[in-house]
Amino acid sequence: MKDRKHARPPVLGQRRLKRGAREAKAAREQERDRRKELRDVANRHILVNVANLGPNRSYGTPEFVARGYYMDMPFNCKACGIAQVWTEAQQKWWYESAKGDVWTVAVMCRPCRRRERARRAEARETHLSGLSAKGKVAN
Ligand SMILES: [Zn+2]
Repeated sequence: MKDRKHARPPVLGQRRLKRGAREAKAAREQERDRRKELRDVANRHILVNVANLGPNRSYGTPEFVARGYYMDMPFNCKACGIAQVWTEAQQKWWYESAKGDVWTVAVMCRPCRRRERARRAEARETHLSGLSAKGKVAN
């Protein structure tokens, strides 16, 4: 009896060692899987470079930042209703080169955006010439 009792701790110790080795192996495999997943993601998607993003003036983290990579985003143009895809490359350009607000997303197709820009420029023009006309009247 006494011998068996004495024999127990080493057995438990061995089990613990084995379990430790098993857990270490599982952790290594998990790490390997995680790295492979990251590599796969990098191969399939454009990664977000957080350092290039414009200032985030709101609380919280946008989904694409938390995710770490861009995903093509289907949407319907709010002006003409046509189905569009805001591509990963376009998103990277908007957020990282144009420093667009990280909480904004594309809502209009390219032709409608161009038309909207022209309309706004014209409205500004009209407004400014209206102001200078008023100025002339006042002088
Ligand atoms: Zn449109």
